[in-house]
Amino acid sequence: MANIRAVQKALDALGIGKLEARPWRRSVVLEGRVRTWQDYIRAGYAAAGKGFKGVVNDIEVEGLEREREYIPPVRDNTLEGKQFDVIVIGGGVIGCAIARELTRWQLRVAVLEKEDDVAKQTSSRNNGMIHPGIAPARGTKKLHYNILGNRMYTQAARELGFALERCGSLILLEKSWYRLLAPLAKQQALQKGVDGVILLSRREVFRREPYATPAQRGGVLLPSAGVVAPYDVTVAFAENAVENGAQVFLHTMVQGFAMEHDRIARVLTNRGRIRAKVVVNAAGVWADKVAGWANDRFFTIHGRKGTIAILDKKTRAYQSGVLAMPRLGSKAHTKGGGINPTVEGNLLMGPNAVEVPWREDWSTGPEDMEFLLSRHLPLNTRLRPGDIITYFAGVRACTFEEDFVVEPSEYVANLVHAAGIQSPGLAAAPAIARDVAEMAVKLLSGVMEVRPNPRFNPVRRPNPRLTDLSLEERALLIRSNPAYGRIVCRCEAVSEGEIVAAVKSPVPALSVDAVKRRVRAGMGRCQGGFCTPAVLDILARETGVPPTRVVKGRPGSELVLAPTKEPGEGSADA
Ligand SMILES: Cc1cc2nc3c(=O)[nH]c(=O)nc-3n(C[C@H](O)[C@H](O)[C@H](O)COP(=O)(O)OP(=O)(O)OC[C@H]3O[C@@H](n4cnc5c(N)ncnc54)[C@H](O)[C@@H]3O)c2cc1C
Repeated sequence: MANIRAVQKALDALGIGKLEARPWRRSVVLEGRVRTWQDYIRAGYAAAGKGFKGVVNDIEVEGLEREREYIPPVRDNTLEGKQFDVIVIGGGVIGCAIARELTRWQLRVAVLEKEDDVAKQTSSRNNGMIHPGIAPARGTKKLHYNILGNRMYTQAARELGFALERCGSLILLEKSWYRLLAPLAKQQALQKGVDGVILLSRREVFRREPYATPAQRGGVLLPSAGVVAPYDVTVAFAENAVENGAQVFLHTMVQGFAMEHDRIARVLTNRGRIRAKVVVNAAGVWADKVAGWANDRFFTIHGRKGTIAILDKKTRAYQSGVLAMPRLGSKAHTKGGGINPTVEGNLLMGPNAVEVPWREDWSTGPEDMEFLLSRHLPLNTRLRPGDIITYFAGVRACTFEEDFVVEPSEYVANLVHAAGIQSPGLAAAPAIARDVAEMAVKLLSGVMEVRPNPRFNPVRRPNPRLTDLSLEERALLIRSNPAYGRIVCRCEAVSEGEIVAAVKSPVPALSVDAVKRRVRAGMGRCQGGFCTPAVLDILARETGVPPTRVVKGRPGSELVLAPTKEPGEGSADA
């Protein structure tokens, strides 16, 4: 039962300022002023779990400039007056997976993404783990979708042609007495639906992971855990959606809705006003803002940043699966991170979890690295700080209820939310997509006849990757297209043919970073030091623009300004 008094009491008990709670529909709205972002976060959590559907945290933080949001610098009218059956806002893994599911029906589907590529925000800034489902609490949507999504990945990988490695996850037990709890944990995990739980003694852990920390006292092995390349998965969903008739509009930002009674009549963008019968909110860290435009903001998203270090490929030989050693009883809202392999053959270390007011703040700092080095590096005794190639950060889209919001709006007749999709959102994506598409189709059925798409083809044929091929297969490919014989990125052995194919794919890679996400050129030890100029030249040639107009990522990120030499001019020793 919703208890507003309990919320007010909890806020007062914090002693962080004059804060007020008021009910709004089935949610609670918090107002007032606090001094720090941490106080804002504490107030939000204090209000959660008191029987309300959601916490809307409108508390101001003194002196804090709240939102710094990327707005694409594009303004045109190319989408003015267009009509779609479903508009999906957000080209992350959730939006792209939903779009693909929607193409199972005869529908006009559009994905609107404000960035210059799909998988630009959280969907490329994560560990790529297909979690087994042990962490989410019972009764949550997180658990439901994680368990189902994990199972669905096998088929999705087969159909869409992305790599999935079921490497398993080993949770190390830190103290001997934890072992006494392990059988109970196993039983609970099986009750949650986790597919397979194996208890290992200390010796069995060492047999599986010879370099595991000597501090371990046994472990819990979860064989269903796997890893994928998260950008590969997102691109695969997007490309298959496009192959089946969906359209992806990049640089296209939704900036509001024109409402007619309880319906979204028009979606307002920087490229014109668009009509849609149903709108899906898959806007990641901005999903509460999108909900607000339809007067349906019953939850608040707050960003929780996580930094991850990428380790040299040589380290892959030192670990067979995921290693983690969570602190039991910790109240932190995170699974605790660890060290996990990637399908490309690196190890990733992290993430940490830091509440941040900026939702697109992907900066990394020495304190993040210190945390990873002290907390995670010791999990594997062979790893050294010098094995780190680089690091990056992503921001989780968290609600104060710490659960996914996957449902049709209660108040807006043609809106479906796929919001608050923090970890394990990647693992859960196929299952969320299936349900959201069904919800959208149900709404559409009220206003039109929805028929299955007889031409839907779930199978995508990915472009060939040299590193996946045998020597004979490579020779054949190079014979048919010599560009596959010209290696551009030596660290990752990526050929010109692969880059050209990425530029010409259904969701074309049109920037240096987009090429990197598709084929890994620039992801190796030298981090693009050698191959970037060559990638730039190929992009210029294939897209017909001068090299000075080739961008690294977002518009304005051109890499070269002007020629420094005339063509043909060069030094003798160049
Ligand atoms: C450090 C870290 C590690 C993680 N590790 C894992 C893991 O190992 N396994 C796992 O399952 N999950 C993991 N996650 C969670 C996972 O990354 C997310 O759940 C998932 O990527 C969310 O996808 P999304 O599509 O909802 O969001 P996003 O990828 O952020 O996509 C939302 C998109 O919406 C766009 N957008 C926003 N507003 C607008 C607008 N107004 N108009 C148009 N477009 C808009 C954004 O540009 C963005 O591209 C991790 C997350 C983090 C931060």
